[in-house]
Amino acid sequence: MSLAHLKSLIRTIPDFPKAGIRFRDVSSLLVDAAGFAEAVERMASIAPQDIDLVAGIEARGFIFAGAIAGKIDAGVLMVRKGGKLPGPAMGRDYALEYGEDRLEIHDGQIPAGSRVLLVDDLIATGGTALTSCRLIEDAGAEVAGAVFLIDLPDLGGAQRLRDSGLDTHALLT
Ligand code: AMP
Repeated sequence: MSLAHLKSLIRTIPDFPKAGIRFRDVSSLLVDAAGFAEAVERMASIAPQDIDLVAGIEARGFIFAGAIAGKIDAGVLMVRKGGKLPGPAMGRDYALEYGEDRLEIHDGQIPAGSRVLLVDDLIATGGTALTSCRLIEDAGAEVAGAVFLIDLPDLGGAQRLRDSGLDTHALLT
């Protein structure tokens, strides 16, 4: 399947969740078995090697992280919005394209020296991904790279990640 066809499976919802935002809705890709499989295969193939854990960012990142982890024999780390994790957690506050939020991970779930791959459906300003990286580093692990289905280059997030030294990849812009 071509990248152009993959891209055509992602619909755009104007003015969601607020006026002026063009929401790139991957739900239309997820319901297409061949499209979802292609996206996961391609995302796994551009990821760095020797990954121990794939960190998925709530909520759409979980879907891609789980599927990629299955392909590369890695575990899954959930990076959750604040207040959702049942056990003792560590967190960081951050600003995003439309509002403010907090991300958390469980304490003590990343073995020392782990190589972690960060995964989300989309990178915009990069605030969510950068905060996730810092959180994983707070836990003592190495973020070996980041893979996104979609990059919105005008918002500069992927470039910010690269400028911070992270091996950053996106399938679609
Ligand atoms: P950012 O922190 O600005 O890079 O925003 C990235 C996060 O917000 C990701 O978890 C995306 O799923 C979500 N997001 C931001 N902008 C959009 C958009 N235009 N369409 C869909 N999701 C978005």
